[in-house]
Amino acid sequence: MYCSKCGKEIDNDAVVCVHCGVPTNNAKQVNTDPHAKSKIAAGLLGILIGGLGIHNFYLGYTGKGIAQLLLTVVGWIIIIGPLVAYVWGLVEGIQILTGSIDRDADGRLLKE
Ligand SMILES: [Zn+2]
Repeated sequence: MYCSKCGKEIDNDAVVCVHCGVPTNNAKQVNTDPHAKSKIAAGLLGILIGGLGIHNFYLGYTGKGIAQLLLTVVGWIIIIGPLVAYVWGLVEGIQILTGSIDRDADGRLLKE
């Protein structure tokens, strides 16, 4: 591939251009934020036990997490509550794994 700034040829996996030091497209894919939350962990939590809202608590979406937890714990009063919470969590888990949801509540990108 070629540098977007100086146009010289650089390695396909280079993070910065060796000629001018400009970050390449590869640089954007490397999440170096030490506080970044794991996309895999959040996605799996949503898919496996989404009705408990753990994936939302993990990502900082406390309101949504509480709503799902309440639907599961006291939602049986309206019978379908736990089912709604389960499907809701499942959908969010899939959205996290596919990248539709790619940030936590603080706006930080999730890491792979
Ligand atoms: Zn360059």
